[in-house]
Formats: sequence, structure tokens, C-alpha cells
Amino acid sequence: MVSRREEVAAANAGGTSSAWSICYDGFDPRRQGLRETLCALGNGFFVTRGAHPEAHADGVNYPGTYVAGLYNRLTNERGGRTLENESLVNLPNWLPLRFRLADGGWFDMRTGDVLDHRLELDLRRGTLTRHLRWREPDGRRTAMVQRRFVSMKDPHLAGLETTFTAENWSGRLEISSGLDGRIANGGVKRYRGLSDAHLRLLHAGEADDQTVELLAETVQSGIRIAVATRTVVSGDARDSVAGRLLVTEPDAVTHVLELDLAPGRPVTIEKIAALYTSRDRAISECLLAARQAALGAPGFGVLEARHATAWEFLWSRFDVRLDGAGERAETVLHLHLFHLLQTVSANSVGLDAGIPARGWHGEAYRGHVFWDELFVFPVLNFQFPAVAGAILRYRYERLGAARAAAAADGCSGAMFPWQSGSEGREEAQRLHLNPSSGRWLPDYSYLQRHVGIAVAYNVWQHYLVTGDVPFLRFTGAEILIEIARFWASLATYDHVLGRYEILGVMGPDEYHDSYPDAARPGLDNNTYTNVMAAWVLRQAAQALDELPPFYRGEVTEELGLGPGELDRWRDVAGNLRVVFHEDGVLAQFEGDEQLRELDWAGYRSRYGNIQRLDRLLEAEGDTANRYLVFKQPDVLMLLYLLSGDELRALLAGMGYQVTAEQLTRTVDYYMARTSDGSSLSSVVNAWVLARIDPARGWRRLLRALELDVGDAQRGTTAEGIHLGAMAGTVDVVFRCIAGMRSGSIRCFRRSSKGSASASTSVGTGWRSHSPSMAWRSPRGPATRRRSVSRSGGSSVSSLRERAPSSR
Ligand code: BGC
Repeated sequence: MVSRREEVAAANAGGTSSAWSICYDGFDPRRQGLRETLCALGNGFFVTRGAHPEAHADGVNYPGTYVAGLYNRLTNERGGRTLENESLVNLPNWLPLRFRLADGGWFDMRTGDVLDHRLELDLRRGTLTRHLRWREPDGRRTAMVQRRFVSMKDPHLAGLETTFTAENWSGRLEISSGLDGRIANGGVKRYRGLSDAHLRLLHAGEADDQTVELLAETVQSGIRIAVATRTVVSGDARDSVAGRLLVTEPDAVTHVLELDLAPGRPVTIEKIAALYTSRDRAISECLLAARQAALGAPGFGVLEARHATAWEFLWSRFDVRLDGAGERAETVLHLHLFHLLQTVSANSVGLDAGIPARGWHGEAYRGHVFWDELFVFPVLNFQFPAVAGAILRYRYERLGAARAAAAADGCSGAMFPWQSGSEGREEAQRLHLNPSSGRWLPDYSYLQRHVGIAVAYNVWQHYLVTGDVPFLRFTGAEILIEIARFWASLATYDHVLGRYEILGVMGPDEYHDSYPDAARPGLDNNTYTNVMAAWVLRQAAQALDELPPFYRGEVTEELGLGPGELDRWRDVAGNLRVVFHEDGVLAQFEGDEQLRELDWAGYRSRYGNIQRLDRLLEAEGDTANRYLVFKQPDVLMLLYLLSGDELRALLAGMGYQVTAEQLTRTVDYYMARTSDGSSLSSVVNAWVLARIDPARGWRRLLRALELDVGDAQRGTTAEGIHLGAMAGTVDVVFRCIAGMRSGSIRCFRRSSKGSASASTSVGTGWRSHSPSMAWRSPRGPATRRRSVSRSGGSSVSSLRERAPSSR
């Protein structure tokens, strides 16, 4: 049998592949931001948006380069309050490469006479190719092919290769290639008006006659960033260089090259960039490191080949084929895996960065880490366990901050923040802007204490998949125990009910942050929170049981864990309150039955897109808190994380007997009232439905696949990918639908009814096993996935952008 690696290698060599490219034809200023995000290239250390190299930030174009976990804090005054925001920092731009015919103006996509323009993202090799032909007013035509990569193999290096061909003229072309340090964080419209100058420039100059360099520093966190680029004319075309000039402007440095072009004779310019920061290891000083790397790097071709091999290895682990599911679905799944691996890879190990909700692809949510990692770790755990384990240390190393936050709230244990950045303190904003009303509003999202549940779940799943006892001893158990302690201390006992309660929190559904007209924010007895808190308490106790006695003794002593504490956990886990509606449907929170039904049809006809009902209602002077409308399926998260049987067993352990039929009604109830205002919503719905109604589940999965590529949230993808949803769709296919487990052959067929089904014998009802449990293999991490190959497909196919009307 041919191995996946050999298959991938063969396909690379012969160009026989399918569903491996994303193409955009023409230039559409309204969609440029979207294309820049989806064509971003990265390697787990840094990501550069797919901006045109000749462009600068101007409202249409937005070049951005971000290093994983590189944040800076700025403050602003709003309404008499000081707002402090820590943001992922847009770094000096290494891309700039402007060009003009010697007697004309610098080329600009918006004003130039563009004859052809095409962007092609090659997902298999991790390269972005741009084809451009333009015409001067006097009829001179020039073609340009531009290729770039951000090296997956050499994480500090990137390359840009540009080939110009004069089609019907000869004469001089001028190129300006260099570094731009005039960068502000301006990628998200609703943050504009807040301070955005995170960088101060320390140095810009020439390293040699081909190489320029720039050193900047973040103004608060004091992180230095050094970038150096080497620009050379390659091959036979070297003799076409008529002149080279250094231009130093405030905060920018460039080499201007004059090239003599002859018709039909291509001239290629290579630009190799090196990026280091003062946080990097194995360097003495980042400017020196960047300079030496740029001076000493091999040429574009050699670097690109190394990079492509690294991707080949990645795809041999991660490739997925959807048999008969349609090429678009398969292509988008590749795209989702591609961006996941560009955000988190082996290059991320040791960076002290978490998993950002929006990738390192843009500035949405300021690059913060939320609970979205819950949707990402399953894929990493299974295929990339060492990387998953390393990234979990991001949380472990912030246990101190989480303990301090719990203590400040009068609790024990660790309370992880809803939004996390560099230090692990709460980064959620206290005021947010509703773009629909223009009003600044209080933001209570920090009350989403459930983020700790996600951290605990990820730790436990990592252990289940890897069986890594040292991980449990030295990282996992402590996190689990501290989170369990938090829930045990947050729960209060109601003597009348004879139950523990968790009061004043928010569940994942952000449309509800308080009771209508209540004086204080927060809701009581959110079902997701209460049930999963019980789960955490049990799992933390089980984690102790899993440890060999010697390790258990050490952990118990280190954390001062007494038998009384474990008894309390057992008591709380067994007696937490869960609220049901009269008809047996699980409530989202206590009292939700008093809320009003929304006139869904009326709102749809009035607004069209009602995904952000919270904003629309607030702009009308109303609030989503009054209605049975959900941003994302809060209760259904239980069925996302647990199988139906596990959930029923857990509830039974809490004193509630729940039938499978009750769960099915609960699913129907919430699906009918969910607006999918969160990117995670369709993933959860797809997962849950795949197990009870595969045809509907499949349709939901297709919807989730369109989220970023189809810009379903109308503009948000331009600000960064939705990483949780991207990874979540992959996970639905891997685990839920195909029933991925060690050693099985997986394929994904479309039934005659148009639904998806797996070739493995995974049950599709509530009684199905928990796929995550099935992973555990005595041999440790799961084996590589094999897939049933598709027939045919002899040419590189592409995914074309759909017209907005078809979305
Ligand atoms: C969702 C959250 C999510 C956050 C970051 C919000 O819109 O409601 O669940 O964590 O986006 O992706």
C-alpha cells in the first residue's frame, strides 16, 4: 500500500491533486480584507496577511504581520473611565515591494488599468501566487507573477519572489523593496478611535547593499522586533540592474532598484525576510539575529522547497478526503486545516502563546484567547499530541493569575479569565461598542466562568488521548484540581432546595447576561455551567485516582488536598441544581421560561440577517435579555462535549433521570431559537445533529464550512479567521461523523438522501459511544489517518469565491 506521505509527494510532483487551491480573480475593494485574511500565510510563529506587497493600510488594504502571543497594552479614557486593552500587535511590514515604469506613478490596483488579476493560494505547498497584467495609458503592457511563503520549516524566514515581463516594450522599471515601520493597529473598525500606536521605532538602516533592517519596540510590553530583508535580482537577469539606491524615510527603509526590461525577457526579484523578537530563544540580540538570518539565508527556491517539504509532512498527518461530498466541502476543509496549522504548529512550541480565537490573522478580539480552544484541541490532541501538550502549558503557566482572580472574587482554586492575553489576567473589556447603535455599553462577558470548564476538559481529553501520566502529574492534575476547587467554592448551598447552586454567571450564550431589569448582571443556575462543573469535580477526583500512588501522594501534598475537600467535591457534584422546563426540556438558566418568544419572521423580514440580534435589539432600545433568543446553543454544548449516554449518566449522578426523548426535544427547542450569532454555533449544531439526524447535521456542517470562506458574518473574517469554527468543522468530520479512531479506515459518503455517513460503525443515535473516549490507545497517540481515495482528479482544481447572492 502506498503511504499517505508517498501519495502526497507524488501528487506534488505530478500536480495531480484536487481540492487544494483557493483562487480569487479580479480585484474587489469590498472583499480585499476577506481575501487578505483567507490568503494569510503563517507558520505557528508568525502570520502575514495576504495583502498586496505594494499596498499600505488605506481602508481597503490592510497589511498585517503578527507574532504568536506578542501583545502590548494601551489605555484610553471613555465616559470618565480608563479603558485598558491589551492587543496583538501589528508589526513592521516586511512585504513592501512597489513598482513603476520609470516615467510613471507607482502601480496601484485601484487606479491602474488592470487587464488580469488572480490570486491562487496553494494549500498543499503553502504558497500564495499572484498573477497581474496591467497596461499603461500609452499601451505598454507588463505581466507580473508574484509568489510568497512564510516558511513552515525555517520559522523566522519568509520569501517573496516577483517576476516582471515587459510584453510589448523595453525600458526601465523601478522597484522599491524594503521595510515599513509606520504601522498602527487599525484592522478593526470598531476599535478605531482608541489608541493604536503600539510600536516605537529604534533603528532603520542598511545591513549591506542588498539588505535593509528595522528594529522596533512595543511601547508598554517592551518587546523588541527586528526585521531584515534581502532583495536580489536572480539568475541571468542580474545584468538588467541599472542602479540601486538606499532610501531612508522616517520609520521606513527601502532599496530602489532600476531594472532594464526587454520584451518577453522576464526579470525576477527575490526578497527574503527574517523576523526575530527579543522573546526568541537561542539568540543574543534580535536585530543581530534578523540581520544574520537575512544575510545568510539561501535563495527563494531552496527555502521554498524546504517549506514545501514541511507542509508535505503536515498533510501526511492531517489530510482528509471527503468521498463524494463535493469538491467545495473538501477544499474548505483543507483551508480550515491549513489555517489551523498556520496558527498552531511545531513552531509554536515554547512560544508561551495560547490558541487565539481569530488566529494570528488579524486584530479581532485583540488576538485574545477565549474558550474557543475547546474546538481546537481535539484535532491537535489526536494528530499533534506533542504540540497540544506544549500549548496547554499556556494555561498552566497562568495558574498563578487564575488563582489570584479566584481569590479576588472570594473563591478558592483557579478562575481562568474569559479573555486571556500575555499575563493570564482578565482582558475582557468592560465597555463595548455596539456598531448598530453607536453606543458604548457595559460588557459583562467576563462572567463567563465556564472558560475554566473548557480548560479542564482540554486537559482531561489530552490525557485520555495520550495516556501521558507525566503530563497529568506535572501539568494536568494541578489545573484540574484548581478548577475543581473553584467550582466547589463558587457553589452555594440552598437549604430549602437541598441543592447547590451557581449564581450570577453567564453561559456561552452571550445574548443573556442578566435578568431583564435586574440590578446586577449574571444569571443563576446556567445548565451548561452547573452540569459541566459537576463533570469537572468528578474528573479532577478521577485524575487523582489515575496517578500512580507515588505521584498521587506528591500532588496531594503539593496542593494541600485533604480528604474533606474530596468529600465536598463529591457532595457538590452530586447535588448541583439543574433546572428543567415544565415539559422536561433542560432550561438554559433558571427562570428562562419567563422570557418572551421573539417574532422571528418579523425580524427576518425587517433586517434580513439577524445573526446579531443582540445588537439589533439594543439599537431598538430593547434587549435580548427579554427574549428566548440564543446566540449559540448553550445547553447543547453538553451534547457536544459528552455523548448522550454520558450526559444522562452524569445527570443521574446529580439526581435527575433524563430520557433520550427529552434530550431530543431539548435539541429541537434550542435549535429553533438560536440565531447563530457565534461562529461556533453551526459547529455545535452540526455535531449534535450528526448523531440524531445525519441529514440535518450534514446541512449544518456545510453551513459551518461556509462561515469564513463565504464571509457569512459579513465582514468579520476580514478581521481574522474564526479558528474555533475552522477546527471544529474538521473535528466534526474526524471524530463525530467518520468516527475516527486508531487503525480504522475512514471515509465519508453521501447517502442517497444527501446526508453524510461514515464507513465506520459509529452509532448515530444518542446511544453512540463518546468518540473522544474511543481514541484512547494503549500505545499512546493515535495512528495516522488513512482515507479512501477518490477516483480521478488529475488537475489542480480551485475553489472560486461565490457571488454574495449565492450565499
Ligand atoms: C462567541 C464566544 C467566542 C468568541 C470568540 C463570541 O462571539 O460568543 O463564544 O468565544 O466570540 O470567538
